[in-house]
Amino acid sequence: MANIVAIVGRPNVGKSTLFNRITESRKAIVDEQSGVTRDRHHGHANWSGREFTIIDTGGYISGSEDVFEGEIRKQVEISIQEANIILFVVDVTAGITDLDDVVADMLRKSGKKVFVIANKVDNNERWGESAVFHSFGLGAPYNISSLSGSGTGDLLDAVIAEFHDGDEEELDIPKFAIVGRPNVGKSSLVNALIGKEKNIVTDIAGTTRDALGTRYNAYGFDFMLTDTAGLRKKGKVDEDVEFYSVMRSIRAIENSDVCILLIEADKGVMAQDLNILQLALKNKKGLVIMVNKWDLIADKGSNTMRDFKNAILEKIAPFNDVPIIFTSVTEKQRIFNVLEEAVHVYQNRIRKIPTNKLNKVMLPIIEAVPPPAVKGKYIKIKFVNMLPTFKPTFVFYCNLPQYIKESYKRFLENKLREQFDYTGVPIQLFFREK
Ligand code: GDP
Ligand code: GDP
Repeated sequence: MANIVAIVGRPNVGKSTLFNRITESRKAIVDEQSGVTRDRHHGHANWSGREFTIIDTGGYISGSEDVFEGEIRKQVEISIQEANIILFVVDVTAGITDLDDVVADMLRKSGKKVFVIANKVDNNERWGESAVFHSFGLGAPYNISSLSGSGTGDLLDAVIAEFHDGDEEELDIPKFAIVGRPNVGKSSLVNALIGKEKNIVTDIAGTTRDALGTRYNAYGFDFMLTDTAGLRKKGKVDEDVEFYSVMRSIRAIENSDVCILLIEADKGVMAQDLNILQLALKNKKGLVIMVNKWDLIADKGSNTMRDFKNAILEKIAPFNDVPIIFTSVTEKQRIFNVLEEAVHVYQNRIRKIPTNKLNKVMLPIIEAVPPPAVKGKYIKIKFVNMLPTFKPTFVFYCNLPQYIKESYKRFLENKLREQFDYTGVPIQLFFREK
């Protein structure tokens, strides 16, 4: 069960300041993959070892003061649907405004876990002023200053205490998420795979929809499917569509083992495709890329597929060990391969390599090409094992872990991929002293 925290509230209360504070607190703990640009509106956070996704819903709404009540309502509605925990931010220097009341009403009815955040409590005088926020009926406010960070630690302690325990993978059947921009063919794919009658597509606004997926048994495979196809093009402006599709993707991705990312052949790789892809990789999910609408490419020479593939790999570098399948859902081309590939990636992701086998394969490789010496010091890797987690994680024990260079890590990762099949799976390497 994914832990998704959404920040809501009217403009200027400090939502994005709080978002930045929470996501930056994570930076120090977990090393960012190089070259990954951080999205301004959603991030992966880590507090006391608990990981979660945090979303600044305000980031998707025009930043001006005079936003319409309708926009705020939408923001809150989608948060109620997609998030487990909601941080309702208000401004202690402004007291309660009409828009605050609108939000509070919706949240009260939602039954979701809500934290009232009295922001801008920068000094002791303001501490007492936050008492007015009790009147929302949503519990005692948490007094914080997003600017200085005071109070945010206590808030996060309380937030993670609400998280669901138990790891993501309770069921031993694969969970696939079908993700991609609007219009790429997600609902068409689901219909083609499992038939229309089973694909319950609901409109987004005001409906409760089980985002955790449905269990299917098709083509000899037993799997759970979370599709984001319920997304209709309701929003009048692009911003809305992106907002909905990202919110929905986050949830689907977090709850999955393998993401099937659809890209449109006639459009190429777009920025939003890459955003969704990075979400999958950051969450260490398996990945299959499906280039759909291949039928629309009129002049297919002998190199068209290869060129397209290379263009994708270039954009997603350094991660390049991923299946890319060219499909036409309307002409039922290679759809089954997608499912097959997703199962393959799932199996790669859950495979556990026994320690003795791992060492038998990797130690001779390391011996042949040892880590380069630094300042005359020799680095000796003595032993490697795999952690018993769901996301493939390898720990190399050595005398001077701090001297292992990025390039050598890349070398070891490539060797692991060569020796053991990790196609479609992000893997992690750690180096510890021994
Ligand atoms: P959003 O529209 O809700 O995302 O609000 P912003 O995060 O953009 O903040 C609006 C304004 O409030 C900015 O000028 C911030 O610097 C300021 N602000 C945010 N948090 C605090 C705080 O804790 N104390 C004070 N004094 N100002 C803050
Ligand atoms: P979603 O928004 O991602 O769920 O996309 P839809 O499944 O609703 O598809 C959007 C449009 O693309 C529809 O008109 C589909 O008929 C069309 N479409 C889907 N797959 C293909 C394909 O492989 N080839 C072509 N030419 N059109 C497709």
